[in-house]
Amino acid sequence: QRQPLVIANWKMNGSRSLVEKMTVELREHDEVLDRISVVICPPAVLLPAWQDAVFYDHVHLGAQDISEHASGAHTGEHSLSLLTEAGVDYVLIGHSERRQYYGEDEERIRAKVQAALSFNEKPVTVVLCVGETASQRQQEQTYAVVEQQLQSALDGVSEQQSKQIVIAYEPVWAIGTGQTASPELAQQVHGFIRQWLTKKFRVSGSRMHILYGGSLKADNAEALFAEADIDGGLIGGASLDPEEFLAICSAA
Ligand code: 13P
Repeated sequence: QRQPLVIANWKMNGSRSLVEKMTVELREHDEVLDRISVVICPPAVLLPAWQDAVFYDHVHLGAQDISEHASGAHTGEHSLSLLTEAGVDYVLIGHSERRQYYGEDEERIRAKVQAALSFNEKPVTVVLCVGETASQRQQEQTYAVVEQQLQSALDGVSEQQSKQIVIAYEPVWAIGTGQTASPELAQQVHGFIRQWLTKKFRVSGSRMHILYGGSLKADNAEALFAEADIDGGLIGGASLDPEEFLAICSAA
């Protein structure tokens, strides 16, 4: 009952020419886009190129991060107003790279989630990223870490608002390392997240999307997507290759 969702996170990569190439590839495989939802999160400056692209109405656009503020003196930041004007209706929040390298703490992540949920110019879907580091996994803290991240970021979120939330489980040790989580291991954590969501949001929790991210490629996508609680993926490196990205979409 959950339509597959595949999100490309280009991170600080891509170009206008990649937008063109990706558009051509998507147009040639439009049957896939009828079956699943595809979201592209390019660097913010490439959003207009996507809006201009011929195939724009078949994909959703996403932002890799948002400001928790509505406007003002916040050099370098992007507000929800600016982003939605540029076509965005999905926003990544709490990506591990933001947590690790840009000092994003739980409090700021919660503020961003709240800002997105209370933004009333246009509905936006929040993609909340969670996941443990290698050392946390070694110390058997995976479930505790994931639960704490969910609890903190979703504090005060209502059952109604949960319809606007997607969870992305991205084990930090799997991101950009080629060390993909096995389908069994990923499903264990996804199952845990599902239980947690269902407890907090009841029926709505069973309808929420939980995506896997971390070295997801064309050759491991099918096995991961076959798991009961893996509803799609959040793709970094492999989303920069149009053919490979389309192969992943087809596997969903
Ligand atoms: P990779 O697919 O490059 O491992 O990145 C995953 C990711 O961080 C997506 O947000």
